[in-house]
Amino acid sequence: MFEPCNCGSGKTYLGCCGRLHSGTPARDAEELMRSRYAAYARGKTAYLQKSWAVETRPLTLTLDPAQVWTGLKIERHEATGPDTAIVRFTATWRMGAQTGRMTETSRFRRDGAGWVYIDGAVE
Ligand SMILES: [Zn+2]
Repeated sequence: MFEPCNCGSGKTYLGCCGRLHSGTPARDAEELMRSRYAAYARGKTAYLQKSWAVETRPLTLTLDPAQVWTGLKIERHEATGPDTAIVRFTATWRMGAQTGRMTETSRFRRDGAGWVYIDGAVE
């Protein structure tokens, strides 16, 4: 059965963000961003913690299961240095009858074989 990835890549979940969720390092900041969105959509808090920079990682992370993430659009992915990058994205969600969207510019840095999320500015 074709199970599309939450991040909207058009690939299967297992061939896309599922690989990162099971331990494959992200090749770039956009790939990490997509995998973090898919982790929010799937309630994978352990992955969200792991892909967060140690200095900004929250001690605990609780997701609201009523908030359903319905789409991701990557608007910009830009290197800001040899080991740093920013990604601007818009994510949409639904909670009961209510829908919403958030646009954020996130900062990432290379960490070992992969990338981690540092922080983000919500517009
Ligand atoms: Zn994906």
